[in-house]
Amino acid sequence: MKVAMDKLVSLCKRRGYIFQSSEIYGGMSACWDYGPLGVELKRNIKEAWWHANVRERDDMVGLDCSILMHRAVWAASGHEEGFADPLMDCKACRQRWRGDDVTDNRCPACGGELTEPRMFNLMFKTFAGPVEEEAATAYLRPETAQGIFVNFANVVDTTRKRLPFGIAQMGKAFRNEITTGNFIFRCREFEQMEIEYFVKPGSDEQWFKYWVEQRFNWYTSLGIKKDNLRLREHEKKDLAHYARSCTDIEYLFPMGWSELEGIANRTDFDLIQHSKHSGKDLSYFDPDTNERYVPYVIEPSAGIDRTALAILVDAYDEEPDKDEIRVLLRLHPDIAPVKVAILPLSKNQKLIPMAKEVHNAVRKRITSMYDDTQSIGRRYRRQDEIGTPYSVTVDFESLEDNAVTIRERDSMKQIRVPVAELVGTLERKLSGEPLEVLPPGGKYWLGFEE
Ligand code: ATP
Repeated sequence: MKVAMDKLVSLCKRRGYIFQSSEIYGGMSACWDYGPLGVELKRNIKEAWWHANVRERDDMVGLDCSILMHRAVWAASGHEEGFADPLMDCKACRQRWRGDDVTDNRCPACGGELTEPRMFNLMFKTFAGPVEEEAATAYLRPETAQGIFVNFANVVDTTRKRLPFGIAQMGKAFRNEITTGNFIFRCREFEQMEIEYFVKPGSDEQWFKYWVEQRFNWYTSLGIKKDNLRLREHEKKDLAHYARSCTDIEYLFPMGWSELEGIANRTDFDLIQHSKHSGKDLSYFDPDTNERYVPYVIEPSAGIDRTALAILVDAYDEEPDKDEIRVLLRLHPDIAPVKVAILPLSKNQKLIPMAKEVHNAVRKRITSMYDDTQSIGRRYRRQDEIGTPYSVTVDFESLEDNAVTIRERDSMKQIRVPVAELVGTLERKLSGEPLEVLPPGGKYWLGFEE
């Protein structure tokens, strides 16, 4: 099912995933704070990306550049001159529009007449140092990519990487967006995960296709349904002047198909620009062919916030459960903020010491949560709604047989396993083993009766 955006926003707030920034002061538009669950979700997304793209590859290294950079970087990259959107105001209702969102020069809200478009630079400007003068102008980076280009020679010299190889970076980016909205889809402060993959000219289109496929598959590996993802190839006439090809990975968000990630063949544009402006040689000597050339670059550029939104939308589900509706997030175990909840059947003092002992054993290896408030049914619902894949219940029988139940979020089925087998069993289930596979001494419990 496709959840409405307002329903998701309210779940995120109610359960501590995402809050409006500066809410007690009326909110800061297009800025969001990730709460106790949101911060874990985001870390898991970043971890998954870093693992797949850096740690598991021989041809990639990581980088973490400063957000403030020399102003000349943004002159060379073209951002100072051209990172701008056309801005138009409605003369009737005063609403402000981005040129791309307008057709026939009429206000999309009231049909009123619009002002002539004015170009508006999206970079946040500030000053480095105590004096607020033109010479001290600095920008908050609008993308992480440029830090990679300006460190290209440093990385080649220090790692002796040979082409093709890539540099990956994730971190905050800032854009003073004209139109915002759609929750965390378009923020003024957000996080990016970017790769610049340097290749020999001539092999660029082959690598471009490779990266489109790799990146598409990464989203499905996180559990996002294939039907909700599509590729949109940019037509040649719509490409940026430096790009040879560009394909967006789009997701079917509640407001419709929208960009999740862009993959572009940026040719040698960026390295040549930085060479020209800095006076430093950014060419590469190819020891295999004894040639010197400026590499071409393939750029897969993704947003962490948009990925988080796609994951939450995709995982949201509702199903009838007796007289009620069960709301659940069917999150992939790698992404779920809490993997296991430890729940004593009740607040009975006899159960609590054993439940805490079980939690202490589990938490050393698995991100888990202990909860003994409210009735067990309500606690299961709460865990379903935040997307916890497994709950472990300690009941009165546990005190006798030293065994506990594991309840699976998606099927609500339960198995009973000896405490000694618990951590290993949970680890195997979180790695994809079906619930039906029992550990030594384990047995079927609720949901298996028929
Ligand atoms: P859009 O057309 O939606 O503004 P874009 O084409 O300008 O996006 P890029 O410059 O290609 O975006 O940035 C790469 C990725 O960074 C995007 O695919 C998106 O995931 C993320 N991103 C860009 N702008 C924002 C924003 N304002 N808020 C959240 N994420 C963003």
